[in-house]
Amino acid sequence: MTGPFDSGPFDGGLRGDDADADIHHDDAAYVLGALSPADRHRYEQHLAGCARCRESVQAFAGLPGLLSRVPVEQVGAEPAAPPPELSGDLFTAARRARWRRRVMVVAGGAVAAAVCLVLALLLAFGPGRGPTGGQAPPARAMTAVAPAPVTATAALATRPWGTDVTVRCRYHGAASYPVGYTLVVVDTGGHSERISSWSAVPDKTMVLTGTTATRPDRIRAIQVRASDGTPVLSLTP
Ligand SMILES: [Zn+2]
Repeated sequence: MTGPFDSGPFDGGLRGDDADADIHHDDAAYVLGALSPADRHRYEQHLAGCARCRESVQAFAGLPGLLSRVPVEQVGAEPAAPPPELSGDLFTAARRARWRRRVMVVAGGAVAAAVCLVLALLLAFGPGRGPTGGQAPPARAMTAVAPAPVTATAALATRPWGTDVTVRCRYHGAASYPVGYTLVVVDTGGHSERISSWSAVPDKTMVLTGTTATRPDRIRAIQVRASDGTPVLSLTP
Protein backbone atom coordinates (compact mmCIF):
# COMPACT_ATOMS: atom_id res chain seq x y z
CA MET A 1 0.00 0.00 0.00
CA THR A 2 1.57 3.24 -1.05
CA GLY A 3 0.33 6.75 -0.55
CA PRO A 4 0.33 9.42 -3.24
CA PHE A 5 3.60 10.91 -1.97
CA ASP A 6 5.58 7.74 -1.58
CA SER A 7 6.84 7.26 -5.09
CA GLY A 8 7.30 10.62 -6.75
CA PRO A 9 10.11 11.04 -9.26
CA PHE A 10 12.06 13.18 -6.78
CA ASP A 11 11.59 10.84 -3.90
CA GLY A 12 14.91 9.60 -2.62
CA GLY A 13 13.40 6.22 -1.91
CA LEU A 14 15.81 5.45 0.90
CA ARG A 15 13.83 6.05 4.01
CA GLY A 16 10.79 7.82 2.66
CA ASP A 17 11.10 10.84 4.92
CA ASP A 18 12.55 14.33 4.54
CA ALA A 19 15.42 13.80 6.90
CA ASP A 20 17.70 13.09 3.94
CA ALA A 21 16.59 16.07 1.87
CA ASP A 22 20.11 17.48 2.07
CA ILE A 23 21.50 14.49 0.29
CA HIS A 24 20.29 16.00 -3.00
CA HIS A 25 22.97 18.65 -2.58
CA ASP A 26 25.77 16.11 -2.60
CA ASP A 27 25.67 15.93 -6.41
CA ALA A 28 28.64 18.22 -7.03
CA ALA A 29 30.70 16.71 -4.24
CA TYR A 30 29.92 13.31 -5.65
CA VAL A 31 31.04 14.25 -9.17
CA LEU A 32 34.19 15.77 -7.68
CA GLY A 33 34.90 12.65 -5.68
CA ALA A 34 34.85 14.73 -2.52
CA LEU A 35 32.53 12.49 -0.50
CA SER A 36 33.81 10.13 2.14
CA PRO A 37 33.46 6.45 1.25
CA ALA A 38 30.45 6.10 3.55
CA ASP A 39 28.75 9.20 2.14
CA ARG A 40 29.56 8.15 -1.39
CA HIS A 41 27.96 4.77 -0.80
CA ARG A 42 24.93 6.43 0.71
CA TYR A 43 24.68 8.85 -2.21
CA GLU A 44 24.97 6.06 -4.76
CA GLN A 45 22.07 4.26 -3.15
CA HIS A 46 20.15 7.52 -3.22
CA LEU A 47 21.14 8.15 -6.82
CA ALA A 48 19.65 4.84 -7.93
CA GLY A 49 16.21 6.03 -6.86
CA CYS A 50 16.47 9.78 -7.48
CA ALA A 51 15.90 11.02 -11.02
CA ARG A 52 16.64 14.58 -9.98
CA CYS A 53 20.10 13.73 -8.73
CA ARG A 54 20.85 11.65 -11.81
CA GLU A 55 19.94 14.66 -13.96
CA SER A 56 22.02 16.88 -11.75
CA VAL A 57 25.06 14.64 -11.96
CA GLN A 58 24.68 14.39 -15.71
CA ALA A 59 24.29 18.14 -16.02
CA PHE A 60 27.47 18.61 -14.05
CA ALA A 61 29.22 16.14 -16.28
CA GLY A 62 27.79 17.85 -19.35
CA LEU A 63 29.67 21.10 -18.83
CA PRO A 64 31.26 21.63 -22.25
CA GLY A 65 34.79 20.51 -22.65
CA LEU A 66 35.58 20.22 -18.97
CA LEU A 67 33.87 17.10 -17.76
CA SER A 68 33.87 15.09 -20.96
CA ARG A 69 36.12 12.47 -19.42
CA VAL A 70 33.88 11.75 -16.47
CA PRO A 71 32.17 8.39 -17.00
CA VAL A 72 28.65 9.72 -16.52
CA GLU A 73 26.97 6.54 -17.63
CA GLN A 74 28.87 4.66 -14.95
CA VAL A 75 28.33 6.96 -12.02
CA GLY A 76 25.64 4.73 -10.61
CA ALA A 77 27.86 1.68 -10.72
CA GLU A 78 31.44 2.87 -10.42
CA PRO A 79 31.80 6.43 -9.16
CA ALA A 80 35.51 6.68 -9.56
CA ALA A 81 37.16 9.93 -8.59
CA PRO A 82 37.92 12.09 -11.60
CA PRO A 83 41.41 11.82 -13.03
CA PRO A 84 43.82 13.88 -10.94
CA GLU A 85 44.77 16.11 -13.85
CA LEU A 86 41.10 17.08 -14.23
CA SER A 87 40.38 17.69 -10.60
CA GLY A 88 41.42 21.33 -10.71
CA ASP A 89 39.25 22.09 -13.72
CA LEU A 90 36.37 20.11 -12.30
CA PHE A 91 36.55 21.92 -9.05
CA THR A 92 36.76 25.25 -10.81
CA ALA A 93 33.82 24.41 -13.05
CA ALA A 94 31.70 23.20 -10.18
CA ARG A 95 32.57 26.25 -8.14
CA ARG A 96 31.71 28.51 -11.06
CA ALA A 97 28.41 26.74 -11.62
CA ARG A 98 27.52 27.05 -7.98
CA TRP A 99 28.62 30.69 -7.91
CA ARG A 100 26.55 31.39 -11.02
CA ARG A 101 23.50 29.86 -9.39
CA ARG A 102 24.09 31.96 -6.33
CA VAL A 103 24.51 35.14 -8.39
CA MET A 104 21.27 34.38 -10.24
CA VAL A 105 19.48 33.91 -6.95
CA VAL A 106 20.90 37.16 -5.62
CA ALA A 107 20.11 38.96 -8.89
CA GLY A 108 16.58 37.60 -8.82
CA GLY A 109 16.19 38.87 -5.30
CA ALA A 110 17.53 42.27 -6.32
CA VAL A 111 15.11 42.49 -9.24
CA ALA A 112 12.22 41.56 -6.98
CA ALA A 113 13.32 44.16 -4.46
CA ALA A 114 13.60 46.79 -7.20
CA VAL A 115 10.12 45.97 -8.47
CA CYS A 116 8.76 46.30 -4.93
CA LEU A 117 10.54 49.62 -4.54
CA VAL A 118 9.12 50.96 -7.82
CA LEU A 119 5.63 49.84 -6.81
CA ALA A 120 6.04 51.47 -3.42
CA LEU A 121 7.24 54.70 -5.03
CA LEU A 122 4.37 54.66 -7.50
CA LEU A 123 1.91 54.19 -4.66
CA ALA A 124 3.54 56.91 -2.58
CA PHE A 125 4.39 59.44 -5.28
CA GLY A 126 2.25 58.49 -8.22
CA PRO A 127 0.49 61.21 -10.25
CA GLY A 128 -1.42 63.50 -7.95
CA ARG A 129 -0.61 61.44 -4.88
CA GLY A 130 2.54 62.63 -3.24
CA PRO A 131 4.13 65.97 -2.40
CA THR A 132 6.53 65.66 -5.34
CA GLY A 133 4.31 63.74 -7.74
CA GLY A 134 2.13 65.09 -10.48
CA GLN A 135 1.76 68.74 -11.29
CA ALA A 136 2.31 71.31 -8.60
CA PRO A 137 -0.92 73.05 -7.55
CA PRO A 138 -1.28 76.46 -9.20
CA ALA A 139 0.00 79.35 -7.15
CA ARG A 140 -2.10 82.51 -6.93
CA ALA A 141 -1.05 85.97 -5.88
CA MET A 142 -2.22 86.93 -2.41
CA THR A 143 -4.13 90.18 -2.12
CA ALA A 144 -2.77 93.01 0.02
CA VAL A 145 -5.26 93.89 2.75
CA ALA A 146 -3.00 96.23 4.72
CA PRO A 147 0.13 98.21 3.87
CA ALA A 148 3.22 96.02 4.19
CA PRO A 149 6.45 95.62 2.24
CA VAL A 150 5.71 91.97 1.45
CA THR A 151 4.21 90.13 -1.52
CA ALA A 152 3.38 86.46 -1.78
CA THR A 153 1.74 83.74 -3.78
CA ALA A 154 -0.08 80.81 -2.24
CA ALA A 155 -0.94 77.35 -3.51
CA LEU A 156 -3.29 74.88 -1.88
CA ALA A 157 -2.93 71.15 -2.37
CA THR A 158 -5.55 68.67 -1.25
CA ARG A 159 -4.07 65.85 0.81
CA PRO A 160 -5.56 62.83 2.51
CA TRP A 161 -4.72 64.53 5.81
CA GLY A 162 -6.15 67.93 4.86
CA THR A 163 -4.45 70.74 2.97
CA ASP A 164 -0.85 71.68 2.28
CA VAL A 165 -0.39 75.42 1.87
CA THR A 166 2.74 76.58 0.08
CA VAL A 167 3.57 80.28 0.20
CA ARG A 168 6.32 82.01 -1.73
CA CYS A 169 6.94 85.23 0.11
CA ARG A 170 9.19 88.16 -0.77
CA TYR A 171 10.03 90.99 1.57
CA HIS A 172 10.98 94.34 0.09
CA GLY A 173 11.51 96.59 3.10
CA ALA A 174 14.46 97.64 5.17
CA ALA A 175 15.84 95.21 7.69
CA SER A 176 14.79 97.48 10.53
CA TYR A 177 11.12 96.94 9.72
CA PRO A 178 9.37 94.38 11.93
CA VAL A 179 9.85 91.23 9.94
CA GLY A 180 7.99 88.55 11.80
CA TYR A 181 5.09 86.96 9.90
CA THR A 182 2.70 84.12 10.43
CA LEU A 183 0.70 82.04 7.98
CA VAL A 184 -2.87 81.58 9.15
CA VAL A 185 -5.73 79.43 7.90
CA VAL A 186 -9.22 80.75 8.60
CA ASP A 187 -11.88 78.07 8.23
CA THR A 188 -15.52 78.55 7.27
CA GLY A 189 -16.46 78.51 10.94
CA GLY A 190 -14.27 81.57 11.58
CA HIS A 191 -11.60 79.65 13.49
CA SER A 192 -8.00 80.77 12.87
CA GLU A 193 -5.11 78.31 12.84
CA ARG A 194 -1.48 79.36 12.63
CA ILE A 195 0.35 76.87 10.42
CA SER A 196 3.71 78.59 9.93
CA SER A 197 5.79 81.50 11.09
CA TRP A 198 9.00 83.06 9.86
CA SER A 199 11.17 86.13 9.80
CA ALA A 200 11.35 87.81 6.42
CA VAL A 201 14.79 88.45 4.98
CA PRO A 202 15.20 91.50 2.72
CA ASP A 203 15.22 90.74 -1.01
CA LYS A 204 15.01 87.03 -0.55
CA THR A 205 12.12 84.87 -1.67
CA MET A 206 11.14 82.42 1.02
CA VAL A 207 9.16 79.26 0.35
CA LEU A 208 7.10 78.05 3.29
CA THR A 209 4.78 75.12 3.52
CA GLY A 210 2.26 74.71 6.27
CA THR A 211 -0.21 71.91 6.76
CA THR A 212 -3.70 71.99 8.17
CA ALA A 213 -6.24 69.25 8.79
CA THR A 214 -8.89 71.54 7.32
CA ARG A 215 -9.90 70.54 3.82
CA PRO A 216 -9.79 73.18 1.05
CA ASP A 217 -13.56 73.44 0.81
CA ARG A 218 -13.63 74.31 4.51
CA ILE A 219 -11.04 77.09 4.19
CA ARG A 220 -12.39 80.61 4.02
CA ALA A 221 -9.02 82.37 3.70
CA ILE A 222 -5.29 81.99 3.81
CA GLN A 223 -3.67 84.97 5.51
CA VAL A 224 -0.19 86.32 6.06
CA ARG A 225 -0.27 88.28 9.30
CA ALA A 226 2.25 90.71 10.70
CA SER A 227 3.79 90.01 14.08
CA ASP A 228 1.06 92.07 15.79
CA GLY A 229 -1.62 89.84 14.27
CA THR A 230 -2.76 92.26 11.56
CA PRO A 231 -3.60 90.49 8.29
CA VAL A 232 -1.48 92.00 5.51
CA LEU A 233 -2.07 89.48 2.69
CA SER A 234 -5.05 87.27 2.03
CA LEU A 235 -6.18 84.63 -0.40
CA THR A 236 -9.64 83.15 -0.75
CA PRO A 237 -9.56 79.64 -2.21
ZN1 LIG B 1 18.38 13.27 -4.97
